[in-house]
Amino acid sequence: MEIIKGIGVSPGVAICTAVVIDAEEYRVPRRSVPPGQIRKEVQRLRQALLDATREVTNLQITQADLWDSRIKDIFAVHLHFLRDRTLRGQIADLIKKEKFTAEYAVSVILRDVARHFSQTPDTYISERVSDIYDIERRLLRHLIGSRREDLEHLTEPVVVVAHDLTPTQTAAFDKKYINGIATNAGGRTSHTAIVARSLGIPAVVALNEATAKAAAGDTVIVDGDRGTFVVNPDVQTVKEYQRYADAFIEHEHELDELVHLPAVTKDGQKITLLGNIEFPYEAEIALQKGGEGVGLYRTEYLYLDADHEPTEEDHYQAYMETLRRLGHGQITIRTVDLGADKFTQQRRISPERNPFLGLRSIRYCLQNLPLFTRQIRAILRASVHGEVKILFPLVTNLMELRQAKWIVANIKEDLEEQGIEYDDGIPIGIMIETPAAALTADDLADEVDFFSIGTNDLIQYTLAVDRVNENVAWLYSPGHPAVLQLIKRIYQSAKRAKIDVTVCGEMASEIEYVPILLGLGLTTLSLAPPRIPEIKKVVRSVTMAQCRRLARKALSFDTDKQTINLIRSEMESILGKG
Ligand code: PEP
Ligand code: MG
Repeated sequence: MEIIKGIGVSPGVAICTAVVIDAEEYRVPRRSVPPGQIRKEVQRLRQALLDATREVTNLQITQADLWDSRIKDIFAVHLHFLRDRTLRGQIADLIKKEKFTAEYAVSVILRDVARHFSQTPDTYISERVSDIYDIERRLLRHLIGSRREDLEHLTEPVVVVAHDLTPTQTAAFDKKYINGIATNAGGRTSHTAIVARSLGIPAVVALNEATAKAAAGDTVIVDGDRGTFVVNPDVQTVKEYQRYADAFIEHEHELDELVHLPAVTKDGQKITLLGNIEFPYEAEIALQKGGEGVGLYRTEYLYLDADHEPTEEDHYQAYMETLRRLGHGQITIRTVDLGADKFTQQRRISPERNPFLGLRSIRYCLQNLPLFTRQIRAILRASVHGEVKILFPLVTNLMELRQAKWIVANIKEDLEEQGIEYDDGIPIGIMIETPAAALTADDLADEVDFFSIGTNDLIQYTLAVDRVNENVAWLYSPGHPAVLQLIKRIYQSAKRAKIDVTVCGEMASEIEYVPILLGLGLTTLSLAPPRIPEIKKVVRSVTMAQCRRLARKALSFDTDKQTINLIRSEMESILGKG
């Protein structure tokens, strides 16, 4: 049994069989073959070993002049392993004894070797672990090649164990069968975390070595509350976690009772709770969980999920479906937030050196006008069918905002000429998610109908902490005084200009931070739909006086640690009474 600590980013417990996706995205399922096929599997193994050996030998011949002695040593080690009779015998024996497929046997044996190597104190040997994975990948490429498995066609519940999950991978998930997620990389607001929370799947990220410790077919436990990942748990541990999982489900049922109760503080302040969605079907979940509508529709998923560039009609149909599922609820459609980790990098001939500071979000749209126009047309057309708002992401200056608004105005004129209906008064808002926008919020507020505070990016850019980098995840703190002061400032600018302001970053779904947000004056929160009941419970357990006192105290602190300690102790007593 191995227990690894990471960051719990989506609550709940999953006890399940693992599928492991390595960096090259091979999924190696535990699969047996009929006895008559064993010889064929052993033959496939021999062929793969032969092909892999030939490949490395050819590399040595053709590339030797370009390699220094270190690289030559690495490939000599690879050849050594590929030719090692004991290792080859172990894999073949496993196929014969257990009737496994060649790829599964390769994966099991090589991961066993890697596990063994990683535990030896001899650094020369422990450093060979990455070579073993390289060899595994090379063999799998020969064995699976074009027959690569994917996560779209699962037939049984699994925990997905991966280095990291790209937005494209998660968009294509067969969500029904994914019971848990464990990744080496990531932080609280990384894409994997957001999707896991939206889908209500327990997840732990920043595990560093989840893919090294778990092999396909292993039983694993993902504990999204305590940030723990257990590989091959013993019977006692499974029992303990099963108890915990049962208690979690019971707690969820209790929370479900709040669904139809209003989100009102003890002293009568109404709080609007909305859902963040990536896919139209989630709009319904937002309502089922007690939300009043959609506060953030991340439309870039239309791009990540598709095999072609979405047309105006694709956009329109997605918005209409969302509106249909919502009934009368409100919906804020964010124009595509592509770039950085989403979609555009993989299409670039030379990826940007610093994509989070690069051509992303509104910047990308303003440089790709046909794409932007298609989306704005679709939003405007949908706007006559419900309470629709437009939201521009990552606006950092007034010129960008004016340009985007000018484009909307032009498109309205085109629609007018074409006799196509739209809501002329459609509210236009911006995400405030950079210090630049926060510090100039007074000016921006005068030219928009509403603000939406994107704390995920606001924290990343304020604290200079990459939100998807597990190595600096401990520095990513919503309670940092700079973050709290910026939020306060944004709220005050919105209040002065008498415009609405919502918080739609993950901070709005963290029970500890919600009282502080309320205390800062924020009364509309948009969050992952499965988190709505828990946050409603917090809202119903506090008074505004309490929240204001907490916010005032937090703003007076000079470290986030003081804020965290304060809210932890207060929350215990607040929720105890709630
Ligand atoms: C944010 O930055 O807080 C936000 C809600 O947007 P995203 O997480 O999609 O960047
Ligand atoms: Mg953002």
